[in-house]
Amino acid sequence: MAGTGKFFVGGNWKCNGMKDSISKLVADLNDAKMENDVDVAVAPPFIYIDQVNNSLTDRIDISAQNCWVGKGGAFTGEISAEQLIDMGCKWVILGHSERRHIIGEDDQFIGKKAAYALSQNLKVIACIGEKLEEREAGKTFEVCFQQMQAFADSITSWENVVIAYEPVWAIGTGKVATPEQAQEVHVAVRDWLKKNISAEVASSTRIIYGGSVNGSNCSELAKQEDIDGFLVGGASLKGPEFATIVNSVT
Ligand code: PGA
Repeated sequence: MAGTGKFFVGGNWKCNGMKDSISKLVADLNDAKMENDVDVAVAPPFIYIDQVNNSLTDRIDISAQNCWVGKGGAFTGEISAEQLIDMGCKWVILGHSERRHIIGEDDQFIGKKAAYALSQNLKVIACIGEKLEEREAGKTFEVCFQQMQAFADSITSWENVVIAYEPVWAIGTGKVATPEQAQEVHVAVRDWLKKNISAEVASSTRIIYGGSVNGSNCSELAKQEDIDGFLVGGASLKGPEFATIVNSVT
């Protein structure tokens, strides 16, 4: 941890779960001991946010997995930042690689979403990360910095932003980045913040790692100086394992 305050652990449930399994997951999370000083949030699918908000312990914040780019209105199928706040969300995940590469959201659109969500007092988990071919072509930093620049073009205050470095090749593949690989990018992103935003933002912004984090690999990753927490997909669907990850960071 690079002097950035509290660790942050987020659980991204993606498009998983139904009423029954979500109620079991919430019960497991409510039973789990998470006594360390760590910010914790889980991101259910939109339609289950209310169910989770009504049953989940206050220890854990609720995040959305996405939101609309501006004020609500005639945007079929979208959910606005205002609506998320109204339903009890504190956070929103933006720029997740599945939205970038499967849905086709581009850097600028994501940057604008982040700025609008922040303007409505929603905190933002801003995701960046390179694809395997980009890493193999030696373009990891270039891709991450370009995604950072698009956030920086729209965001004016970084106070409520957590950056999630999630290499696309590590997401849902079981192929976790080594602690050294993750640390290398986290340092580079922190350095980018220092050069392009400010030293203050560089030292106070949490940079978390995501991509096949689980109960067994989290402790080694958490020891890296610039890893300030995790964004967890698959393993966040199991309450006890998610708690193990939360408890791995001190
Ligand atoms: P994973 O997903 O932990 O299943 O790799 C991480 C994410 O997509 O945030």
